[in-house]
Amino acid sequence: MTKRGHVMTYAPMTDPAAISIADRLSAIRVRVAEAAVRSGRAVNAVTLVAVSKTHDQQAILQALTAGQLSFGENRVQEASQKFPQLRADHPAMRLHIIGGLQTNKARDAVRLADVIETLDRPRLAEAIALAAAQEGRTPDLLVQVNVGDEPQKSGIPTAGADDFIAECKARFGASLTGLMCIPPAEGDPSPHFDWLAERAARHHLPVVSMGMSGDFELAIAHGATHVRVGSAIFGSRS
Ligand SMILES: *Cc1c(COP(=O)(O)O)cnc(C)c1O
Repeated sequence: MTKRGHVMTYAPMTDPAAISIADRLSAIRVRVAEAAVRSGRAVNAVTLVAVSKTHDQQAILQALTAGQLSFGENRVQEASQKFPQLRADHPAMRLHIIGGLQTNKARDAVRLADVIETLDRPRLAEAIALAAAQEGRTPDLLVQVNVGDEPQKSGIPTAGADDFIAECKARFGASLTGLMCIPPAEGDPSPHFDWLAERAARHHLPVVSMGMSGDFELAIAHGATHVRVGSAIFGSRS
């Protein structure tokens, strides 16, 4: 019967969510690659970090199965519950901590993360350095800059950024790989993206992490090397 073709096509995919995460992921991958090429860079120049916060291991596994390796989580405790088991089965996966980090969570973050994107104050730099010595490993580190100088937001204020970046470079050497920002929700983020990319270049740092579901193509046009995309891949968060 002609119906059989349909059965064959859909039979292996028992979970509808598996289809939609893989489909959304591949659509985002295409848009990331096209934006990179439009900005004059290589098709694979921009790394997609899939932000899986609030989503369960099953959702992460679906993305992994679709070839996604870099994931972002904003809470260390949540990441420590979700990731060790997945990582045992998928050693190539990389965990980025992208949320504000308390100093008392630094050791867990250093143990778990491949990249900590939210180094934003001297006390945290001290805690990470101590934890790295204790754990015998140092994740890659990004300095988060509060590019809009918004009082409620984490990130080093723009006025102190150059000094703090220089201090972190002296302390962490090549483990300090770049800068990260979350621009103000209102208004055109372009000037903030430009500011961050220019600052990274000035400090000879290769990684520029900026751009989320709503603005990752614009961020790539302004020099992002890493984009952090959550809801466009995994759906909305409750
Ligand atoms: C949640 C989050 C993202 C992803 O946001 P979406 O709009 O869901 O893509 C990116 N960066 C940070 C720091 C986040 O906390």
